[in-house]
Amino acid sequence: MNIPALVQAQKNHFADQQTKNVSVRKQLLKRLLTVVLEKEKEIVDALYLDFKKSEYESVMTETSIVISELKRTIKNINYWAKPQHVTPALLNFPSSSKIYKEPYGAVLIIAPWNYPYQLALVPLIGAIAAGNTVVLKPSELTPNTSKITKEIIESVFDKKLVAVVEGGVDVSTELLAERWDYIFFTGSVQVGKIVAKAAARFLTPVTLELGGKNPCIIDKTANIKLAAKRIVWGKFINGGQTCIAPDYLLIHKSVKDDFVSCFKSEIEIAYGKNPEDSKDYPRIVNQRNFDRLASMLENETFLVGGKTNREDNYIAPTLIDEPSLDSEVMKGEIFGPISPVISYETEKDLENIIHKYEKPLALYVFSGNKKFANKMITKYSFGGGTINDTTVHFANHHLPFGGVGESGIGSYHGKQTFDLFSHKKGVTRRYNWLDLPMRYAPYKGKLKTLKTFMKLFS
Ligand code: NAD
Repeated sequence: MNIPALVQAQKNHFADQQTKNVSVRKQLLKRLLTVVLEKEKEIVDALYLDFKKSEYESVMTETSIVISELKRTIKNINYWAKPQHVTPALLNFPSSSKIYKEPYGAVLIIAPWNYPYQLALVPLIGAIAAGNTVVLKPSELTPNTSKITKEIIESVFDKKLVAVVEGGVDVSTELLAERWDYIFFTGSVQVGKIVAKAAARFLTPVTLELGGKNPCIIDKTANIKLAAKRIVWGKFINGGQTCIAPDYLLIHKSVKDDFVSCFKSEIEIAYGKNPEDSKDYPRIVNQRNFDRLASMLENETFLVGGKTNREDNYIAPTLIDEPSLDSEVMKGEIFGPISPVISYETEKDLENIIHKYEKPLALYVFSGNKKFANKMITKYSFGGGTINDTTVHFANHHLPFGGVGESGIGSYHGKQTFDLFSHKKGVTRRYNWLDLPMRYAPYKGKLKTLKTFMKLFS
């Protein structure tokens, strides 16, 4: 693939105003919806081949999200794209003012492997809806999903408008060497910094959807049984390979034993006595990540799980008891089915631990005490979160989804994705039937009137 030629072809297509017609964009999105619906089974099969993701989880967390994002965008695109009237400034009287939603131009989207279909398609839908051209680079670690994604895109779009470029770090590096009008990256903090550096060369705007070490606080007033059930779900869905999964559990000392016992039974209810036999429990994506996670288990004490099978990249749902804050598992984002359990007694204990890490992508607090929960939500800085559940804030498209600090820059979902891929161009139209003389030189004798005017209208 000749990347410079591809990017130039997309830039020419954009410069020829070929992406500006909103009805054409809408028609293309409708065609994409038809194909996405037709291919749902193939996508589900590809996800199973890539890391044994179950059909149920694939529908819940991948295909249905893409389908609803497409339907929502098709329904609202005319309204979202329409220039928006704002109140004119009286100082400009007579005038009107509008915000135009202008596409940036050539957009590069780099996707990760953990929700390889959804995290590639959702930003892509917004970028196309907003009138950009797109080059999408899916992750090389989920080759089956990457292949079907490419087939879908190629069956709907001309390469001049949307192209899928497959490959690993080499290809990604080559793409990042080009000059883009916007880069949307989802992946690790480490690679996010490489992307930001490449973007800085041309001052290209970026969205970085990164990861982090997400705390999950379980207060002594929490409904322990329900908390255990909801944490088991949010932690082990996708085999724990979720950017917003709870990373480490901070449990009030007085409820730790009760919580651990509920957690054990919830794992058994969800995945049976041996989760390795469960059809609903995914595998670690590859051996490199398996080895990274397995090394976190060395020299630790398990409250639950701890079993691994390298042949099959299997790691059992695992709780580690009170690891040291300097241990391997507490160093960085875990991104797997392992949760450290750390007990606390005071709010100061919580602060000492949470503030030790960079601002996380998510924070969860389970508590029956509204005041305590609100305090945790406002005291700590994090991308987004949920009170009394895990990960479900993701499901509300009215909420911005993104990180803060090291967990990312920018946010998207629903209308916000359309807005993210649009430059907001403010334009004032002046009318010619009146031209107040006050602002023009010579200024002699006008200052008092100017001051009165400014007082009245600013
Ligand atoms: P990754 O950073 O290794 O890879 C992401 C993408 O970058 C892939 O397409 C890969 O090919 C490319 N890439 C890898 N190394 C590169 C390099 N040196 N130069 C240029 N491109 C490179 O991430 P991953 O392993 O695919 O995904 C896991 C990470 O993503 C976790 O940290 C997780 O928290 C984060 N994540 C964040 C979100 C979010 O929405 N905030 C969602 C999913 C995953």
